[in-house]
Amino acid sequence: MEMGPGIPRMCPCGALTVLLTSKTKENPGRRFYRCGVVFGENHLFKWADEAFVEELEVLAAKQTEMENGMVEIKEQLLDFKKDLTEIIEVVAAFSKHLRK
Ligand SMILES: [Zn+2]
Repeated sequence: MEMGPGIPRMCPCGALTVLLTSKTKENPGRRFYRCGVVFGENHLFKWADEAFVEELEVLAAKQTEMENGMVEIKEQLLDFKKDLTEIIEVVAAFSKHLRK
């Protein structure tokens, strides 16, 4: 069963996940996500600590994407300001010309 990286919100069966704490000898106190309806094969199980690390990586990638988007928007804004300045100059020249 292949799920995306990060905190799993849903099991492939469509059920919401639940966050629980392990009580096994091997992993006492370790938190995990599992299918909120069925515990078993073909239903989601994922250790929370692993999910959190993945989630941070996903968020870091999204943040980088957003930062790049902001740089692009700033550049476009500067271009718009230049264009607007030119338009204002043209309009001013025209209105001067019309008053003559
Ligand atoms: Zn399920």
